[in-house]
Amino acid sequence: TKTPLTLLGLGAMGAALAEAWLAADHPLTVWNRTPARADPFAGRAAVAATAAEAVAANRLVVLCLLDEDSIAETLADVDLAGKDLVNLTTGTPARARARAEWARERGARFLDGGIMAVPPMIGVPGSGGYVFYSGSPDLFEEHGATLAVPAGARYVGEDAGFAALHDVALLSGMTGLFAGVVHAFALIREEEVRPTSFAPLLADWLTAMTPFVHGLAERLESGDHTTGVVSNLAMQSAANATLVATAEDQGVSTELLAPYFALEERHVAAGHGDEDGAGLVDRLRAG
Ligand code: NDP
Repeated sequence: TKTPLTLLGLGAMGAALAEAWLAADHPLTVWNRTPARADPFAGRAAVAATAAEAVAANRLVVLCLLDEDSIAETLADVDLAGKDLVNLTTGTPARARARAEWARERGARFLDGGIMAVPPMIGVPGSGGYVFYSGSPDLFEEHGATLAVPAGARYVGEDAGFAALHDVALLSGMTGLFAGVVHAFALIREEEVRPTSFAPLLADWLTAMTPFVHGLAERLESGDHTTGVVSNLAMQSAANATLVATAEDQGVSTELLAPYFALEERHVAAGHGDEDGAGLVDRLRAG
């Protein structure tokens, strides 16, 4: 028999999670602040009238609410003693650590999760979606298989903040990628280059460049920031001038490129032109 569980929150993500557990025959109890959102689950899941009733129904309780404030509001007066609480609501590492302590004080085991997927990827084997989990190793050991039903489950450590830290670090890397893509399309926008012809070139180039993260990681671990460097910062700095001049000629703002170039130039000016991005990591931390 499949582990029964409770899910609080039937928004876009919560509803997708609910469908995945139902499809895998897990007995499910659901609750949503706005009751109408639970209607599609009537008859297939137990629909609780209150959050307290939903939490009381099962030991394993998953939260997928909008933000930290909605968790505080929803669980303020709910008895959590003996519960296994899994929070899939996006938040900061610090808030996850505070929430873990809050749960411990209430007698619950706690896992925080960071969902690396969008709702259409949930419950679809091979979609590549997964969830980072951190916090109680015992909870993950006991319920890992149930948690892996909607999307892959990757446990990243006992520190409850680690799931959010991994999640935010990946999203931050993606943000830099998005900025570069926006700038690239802006450069060709007014020219006779079709965006749909340019897109595969851009996607392939970015894919070809991505493995640089491994060399950078090796240099961070060894502390030797010069061995293995292919394109050093002194060379990149010179090339930056070409990128800036081209943006200006094309009437494109340099606002997305400028902060990264400024960091590179500070590092080169400090005498580190023979390094690459590994050196920039510590310079960024230094502020
Ligand atoms: P939605 O906006 O679709 O749903 C938000 C949910 O939170 C609803 O169930 C809503 O209830 C509930 N809610 C909001 N405020 C409160 C409150 N004060 N008290 C109780 N319930 C409240 O968001 P998603 O389902 O898309 O996202 C849920 C979580 O999943 C978020 O933390 C999001 O960051 C995360 N996530 C979402 C992804 C996505 O692509 N959608 C991807 C990765 C993570 P009501 O119906 O009553 O408004």
